[in-house]
Amino acid sequence: MKPHVLIIEDETAVVTLLRYNLERDGFEVSVAMDGREALMAVDENPPDLVLLDWMLPEMSGIELCRQLRRKPVTKSMPVIMLTARGEEADKVRGLDAGADDYVTKPFSPAELVARIHALLRRSRPVLADERLTAADISMDLAAHRVHRGGEEVKLGPTEFRLLRHFLEYPGRVFSREQLLDAVWGRDVYVEPRTVDVHIRRLRKALNNPENSDVIRTVRSAGYALEPEGA
Ligand code: CA
Repeated sequence: MKPHVLIIEDETAVVTLLRYNLERDGFEVSVAMDGREALMAVDENPPDLVLLDWMLPEMSGIELCRQLRRKPVTKSMPVIMLTARGEEADKVRGLDAGADDYVTKPFSPAELVARIHALLRRSRPVLADERLTAADISMDLAAHRVHRGGEEVKLGPTEFRLLRHFLEYPGRVFSREQLLDAVWGRDVYVEPRTVDVHIRRLRKALNNPENSDVIRTVRSAGYALEPEGA
């Protein structure tokens, strides 16, 4: 699975440079030219990481970063701010608005790619490892096995894919539609209610009286894996 980076930048020359370097490094790249486009893009197809330019038409990068942090789908998504400004005060403002890292233009593409990898290693261990873990749950992707508190958990194939998706994005809230796209695929028509059925099965398999429920139901939004809750 290629990591997906959303570039939010209005300067085509910078977009071309970023796209070239990221695609060469094995990333899937999408682009939004302004804040409004970006907010639609993250709902449509949530990226694994956002590269956000400070200087954007209409809504500034700082304001957009604040808005991304308020949205459930992007609340914990890694954000790297790009900017022509190099002042310390601006850096602080960027980080205050919720950016995880900050790169000043002109930047070295190699350094930027290294920073992207570093952030993704923290947020999506699957890209670096064959094992996913959260709280006392561990998933061995190669052996296709799941353990909770040392005990093996038997899961059906759909529950396995659901859990894998949650483990790849701990804490992030997914709507039923997003789970359908991620787990069943875009081309398959499945009723959103089907997601609830499989969530119930997944909960039943993972939880016994000694274990807390790690799957959180977010009213009118969807579901999230809450690693801290365990
Ligand atoms: Ca710009």
